[in-house]
Amino acid sequence: MDLPSKLLEKTVEYFESLPGVGRRTALRYALQLLKMPKDEANAFGEAISRLSKELKFCKVCHNISDHEICQICIHPKRNQNLICVVEDLRDLLAIEGTGQFFGVYHVLGGVISPMDGVGPSELTIDSLVTRIESGSVLEVLFALPATTEGDTTCFYIFKKLKNVEVIITSLARGVAVGNELQYTDEVTLGRSILGRLPFENSLRSH
Ligand SMILES: [Zn+2]
Repeated sequence: MDLPSKLLEKTVEYFESLPGVGRRTALRYALQLLKMPKDEANAFGEAISRLSKELKFCKVCHNISDHEICQICIHPKRNQNLICVVEDLRDLLAIEGTGQFFGVYHVLGGVISPMDGVGPSELTIDSLVTRIESGSVLEVLFALPATTEGDTTCFYIFKKLKNVEVIITSLARGVAVGNELQYTDEVTLGRSILGRLPFENSLRSH
């Protein structure tokens, strides 16, 4: 299906490159943009352009932030001794949504996945290890997806921390294997934070 405009085609291609968007949906989005008042469409474009140019990541935890240090890291009531390791912002938001976690985070930016070309050096693992080695961290809580990639990542970090005196725990698995955290309901996720277990226990069950 050739579109009558190259400009339209280009926009449709961009929408199509987003996860879960097929060509028909992409076309619907593009046509919806055309219906927008010009001011609004411009503001939309500018928001996208500024997002990649101006967005910062917290220097400590790599959470998305408007400042050098994010709101969570800088919050006086957060427990700096407890770090929850998450894959990305979506999981951080899911855990924040439970209201059951008062520590701080470390956002890895993904999980180890050789199939997708993601190795440990693509993630913020070194920064996590440095943070734990140099600070007053007492506990590291793994809140990574219960998938092969999530487990591989936990094990990799666990090995890196072998000689560091820190308690390593993992979410209690009320979460079915393959489920991603952000799709788990808040009550279940909240319970699995409170009922977290030593990470070594999960190794024995493998
Ligand atoms: Zn932060």
